[in-house]
Amino acid sequence: MAQQTITLIGGGLVGALLAQQLAQRGFAVEVYEKRPDPRLSGFPGRSSASCARGTRPSMDSGGRSINLALAERGLQALRTAGLADDVLQRAVMMRGRMVHDRDGNSSLQRYGVDDSEVIWSVSRGALNMLLLDAAEAAGVQFRFGQSLVSADFDAQRIRLADAAGVERELPAGMVIGADGAGSALRATMNAHSPLGERVESLGHGYKELEIPPAGELPAGVLQLSGGRDQYALEPHALHIWPRGGYMCIALPNTEGSFTVTLFLPAQGAAPSFATLPDAAAATAFFSEQFPDLLPLIPYFSEDFDGHPVGTLSTLYLQRWHLDGRALLIGDAAHAIVPFHGQGMNCGFEDTVVLANLLAAAPNDSAEVFAEFQRVRQPNANAIATMALENYVEMRDSVADPHYLAKRELGALLAERAPQHYMARYRLVTFSHVPYAYALERGRAQDQLLEQLLRDTPNVADIDIEAAARLFQSNLAPLPGLR
Ligand code: FAD
Repeated sequence: MAQQTITLIGGGLVGALLAQQLAQRGFAVEVYEKRPDPRLSGFPGRSSASCARGTRPSMDSGGRSINLALAERGLQALRTAGLADDVLQRAVMMRGRMVHDRDGNSSLQRYGVDDSEVIWSVSRGALNMLLLDAAEAAGVQFRFGQSLVSADFDAQRIRLADAAGVERELPAGMVIGADGAGSALRATMNAHSPLGERVESLGHGYKELEIPPAGELPAGVLQLSGGRDQYALEPHALHIWPRGGYMCIALPNTEGSFTVTLFLPAQGAAPSFATLPDAAAATAFFSEQFPDLLPLIPYFSEDFDGHPVGTLSTLYLQRWHLDGRALLIGDAAHAIVPFHGQGMNCGFEDTVVLANLLAAAPNDSAEVFAEFQRVRQPNANAIATMALENYVEMRDSVADPHYLAKRELGALLAERAPQHYMARYRLVTFSHVPYAYALERGRAQDQLLEQLLRDTPNVADIDIEAAARLFQSNLAPLPGLR
């Protein structure tokens, strides 16, 4: 029997991993990717002044972060694909959040109980190229520089344009869209029969800056920063400078640099991107709000003026598929804000679920797509909610005494009653329980923590044995976590 062919739109992180897994399960997979092959052309660089200097690694196009946090869910999908070890060799471990206050003090808030619960900073470009290699080795055919323009689902044909804008049509029976938040497949599916699309803008944007390796900074600047080896800051942490309504974060790169991202309201009263029109205004703002960070970014002006402001939105769809003919996956189906570091992780989890469902019923794509949506949509909605909540936690709560008291109490309970308490962040980041379960369980746990802290702000005043009993009598034991 001839192999069944699946047409994938988008060879980004999710598309490449899905393609590899489908090919491993015996499908013939063709991927049409808008960009040129990054392994030949380099991962697309910005035409900004900073990249033009030629001494720094090029950043991803479109203002996306050059690194991402990989957590257990994404790692588990990579294990399934046989790629986890290769990816971890190119990653930097992050044990927790290093919180930097306005006075220049910093403290590490560990994510998990020990080094078995860490997250990993990976280069988006290197990861994408590794996934492309793996998919090709599994037999996937990639067609680069081919952009989906539209699809005629009734005639089972897709229309593609090359880089010069020359269009052609091809037959495509089953089409899967992994073409990201601005998905062209989604648009054409929506035109055929509405998907119930809702896009909620966060109203905040982001801009990327860079801390170079320590060797490129003057010695005086490094004395206070707490750097190690070739890094200007502690390498094994995700750094946060929380400032209430906005924040900066920095994630390490393997070659010693950090990608810094400033998150700020897009419009409105100061500070917002609208009130920082250029590097001069931004420098004054940083010297007031991030005085310890500014000296670590020697190319601040070029970065600020040269890099675009990225927008942040959450995408909700009522329907992810058009019977058995077309399906959306990853950001194309459920783009979220990046504050839980889970967009890619969630998309990677999607790929394993879909590949298994398709392998089990290769001739019933309508049933498979419906089941995929049934299983994944509540979880995508849950991580969308938690990602939004985590923005407030990162930019504000991490420095708030009540939040810190809850964290301290939670840590005691996690030791004393591990079957009944696990911080929501850990459930999301280090376990495989469904996101929807993590959201619900997190709310129930939070109510009990609030109840315990209602009468005293002081964790030392709380009877920890009685607190453990409260959790044990009110909550079911946690399920198997991995
Ligand atoms: P994309 O990565 O957007 O890939 C889509 C692909 O489709 C691209 O290759 C594109 O060129 C191609 N394409 C687009 N249109 C067409 C077309 N018409 N025809 C053909 N091909 C097309 N997630 C995490 O898990 N951890 C993090 O720490 C994290 N940090 C983030 C930080 C920021 C600032 C942002 C914006 C996002 C972050 N994310 C993070 C989310 C993560 O980037 C996305 O969830 C992930 O990239 C989704 O992968 P994808 O393959 O679905 O989409």
